[in-house]
Amino acid sequence: MKALGPIPAGFDAAGGILAIDGRSVTELIAEAGGTPLFVYSGDRIRQRVAALRAALPERVAIHYALKANPFLPVVELMSSLVDGFDIASGGELELVRATGVPLERVSFAGPGKRNAELEAAIRGGVTLNLESEGEARRAFAIAEKFGITPRMAIRVNPDFDLKGSGMKMGGGAKPFGIDAERVPALVREVVASGATWRGFHIFAGSQALDAEAVADTQRQTIALAGRLAEESGVDLPHCNLGGGFGIPYFPGDTPLDLAFVGEQLTASLRDLPDVLAETEFCVELGRYLVGEAGVYLAEVIDRKVSHGEVFLVTDGGLHHQLAASGNFGTVVRRNYPSAIATRFGAPVEEEATIVGCLCTPLDKLADRGGFPRADVGDLVAIFCAGAYGASASPATFLGQGPAREVLV
Ligand SMILES: *Cc1c(COP(=O)(O)O)cnc(C)c1O
Repeated sequence: MKALGPIPAGFDAAGGILAIDGRSVTELIAEAGGTPLFVYSGDRIRQRVAALRAALPERVAIHYALKANPFLPVVELMSSLVDGFDIASGGELELVRATGVPLERVSFAGPGKRNAELEAAIRGGVTLNLESEGEARRAFAIAEKFGITPRMAIRVNPDFDLKGSGMKMGGGAKPFGIDAERVPALVREVVASGATWRGFHIFAGSQALDAEAVADTQRQTIALAGRLAEESGVDLPHCNLGGGFGIPYFPGDTPLDLAFVGEQLTASLRDLPDVLAETEFCVELGRYLVGEAGVYLAEVIDRKVSHGEVFLVTDGGLHHQLAASGNFGTVVRRNYPSAIATRFGAPVEEEATIVGCLCTPLDKLADRGGFPRADVGDLVAIFCAGAYGASASPATFLGQGPAREVLV
């Protein structure tokens, strides 16, 4: 039997049926019109943002990285909870615009911004996190054409990475940001262009559970921002410290010690270099805000036995939850937290493999986990499905189409 990831605390059962925000999943599925279904808990998202506010120094604003979950009702809820949004495409800009969020609270990172995307962002007053000198010059030309003063920050490719992070986004040769040693020259060029100078964006990695490593990266980020501001000879209005706060997905993972991160960041901000005395700071978080708030639900369509192994075949699969299948940037496949939602909390009775309905051996949602016995018509829940689920999976693969989504 293989271990399953830890189910986030606080999910309980009403009469053996998994409940989310006090509503049974069978009721939620009936309301939504069927399975497969992603359910996102508004209460959990609110609680998470409140916990962050309590732990982080007041001077540090909270931004939501939209790519984690761009479902419009989630983005709308977020707009009432966080201080800003970080987007990475023109499509995400249109989503944010639909919520009515003031676009001065939005920054736009991402390599390969097309001219039309730069134009939409500049005309809307979004801050561009410039990813290269070439992009900066295209943006200057577009701003001049429309006679608009653009808001510009520079994404720095730091010379360090976030230790233990699931996805390294800094350190060495990268398609993201501008190598630190070339940043001061571009800062001066941005300021000389007459653009509104918005500071640095320094993102060193993702999915870290080690609070020591997160705090250490934040210290290095602040030191780098100070050094680059000094060398540029220009004050730093704003510094985006990145994020990288992880959530426990796999057996043995433990939650990030948020209190420790908050204390260390408070200490780092206490002895800032002079050049950062007036700087505003933010963190940008995706999965930490929404990941554990989401549950993916699918129905068992078939139960079969092959060479003595039980397979529960569901109507869902990797076309909705690619990450749980182990095919979204993981080296070794491990089990996400999962359960039989219609027998939630019941004792383990057998070893079973939960698969999707796609005709590929990659389509595995839980590999040889221990579950209560499930039959056709039972429901399966995959937890930690609130980030990089629906929008990060190949929904049209094999002609399947998207899952339903609902925010409760
Ligand atoms: C993906 C990404 C994020 C969000 O990462 P999470 O691990 O979901 O917190 C934040 N900022 C940038 C620049 C990113 O590319």
